[in-house]
Amino acid sequence: MEKKNIDWSSLGFAYLETDKRFVANYKDGAWDEGVLTSDSQVRITECAGVLQYSQSCFEGLKAYTTQDGHIVTFRPDMNAARMKDSCERLEMPVYPVDKWVEAVDQVVKANDAWVPPYGSGATLYIRPYMFGSSAVIGVKPADEYQFRMFCTPVGPYFKGGAKPITIRVCDYDRAAPHGTGHIKAGLNYAMSLYAIMDAHRQGFDENMYLDPGTRTKVEETGGANFLFITKDNTVVTPKSSSILPSITRRSLLYVAEHYLGLKVEEREVLLDEVKDFAECGLCGTAAVISPVGKIVDHGKEICFPSGMEEMGPVTKKLYDTLTGIQMGRLEAPEGWIRVIE
Ligand SMILES: *Cc1c(COP(=O)(O)O)cnc(C)c1O
Repeated sequence: MEKKNIDWSSLGFAYLETDKRFVANYKDGAWDEGVLTSDSQVRITECAGVLQYSQSCFEGLKAYTTQDGHIVTFRPDMNAARMKDSCERLEMPVYPVDKWVEAVDQVVKANDAWVPPYGSGATLYIRPYMFGSSAVIGVKPADEYQFRMFCTPVGPYFKGGAKPITIRVCDYDRAAPHGTGHIKAGLNYAMSLYAIMDAHRQGFDENMYLDPGTRTKVEETGGANFLFITKDNTVVTPKSSSILPSITRRSLLYVAEHYLGLKVEEREVLLDEVKDFAECGLCGTAAVISPVGKIVDHGKEICFPSGMEEMGPVTKKLYDTLTGIQMGRLEAPEGWIRVIE
């Protein structure tokens, strides 16, 4: 396989059309076999459930080239299981977990020329998604669905080092109590667009959402979970039923405990105690960890001792260990790395 002629390290996080994508259709109560296709266009009725009532969910994961030259994915079974949860909550048909993981293999294999080489800092981002494709005018679930999966190469998240970001405590909510915050539904993102653009207009990089019920506890940002480090090096992450369970965050907690011997806590985190932490980071597939240097709560600044120049020392260790596992430099826990070729 000859790699595409791309300057990998200068890629951003944007859609670049690749050669093949996977498409499966659900009709008359069953999924078809699914195929790889070169056709990147989706053709659906103007009245499709997804277009009228936003019946859709998605996932995001990456394929990498490891140090010894294999193309691998990281815990794809976790993404498949999470999409199952999303589908059940949205009255959509579940795509079987084992076939889901095989579809990822197929898509990556068919686009292996697009998988960035080891050391480039770039990765292949894979976007599985499902939507109601048949006509719906009365409010109800669609009868037919499409499950698709495409991939696109994305550049190093941090060009020239991971600079800490500044976030604000947000007055808008991303999820209702007992709502859909814990699933990866497109609608959660549609609702967050105004809040993130408003944050940018005010000069902030991200929003810190609070618990929608009492607005006293830390939840997450629009697309990443929080990790905090206490002054005695305990890793703390907020616990709430309206947080999206990040696979990166769950992997980092495991790494903290089992690779670095740190104490970990998943518990409610009050906004009032955030000023006492030594480090703060945001975790998700895209960046693994983005360090947070400052949180602004209505003009009141919380500045972490790790500062605005670089990642805090514990955050850095977590980042290096997890990316070392993903890139094959460190031994992975059983089942975390799926070798594709
Ligand atoms: C996808 C997502 C995350 C990150 O999850 P990962 O599995 O680590 O990529 C965090 N928060 C929200 C709201 C998300 O949609």
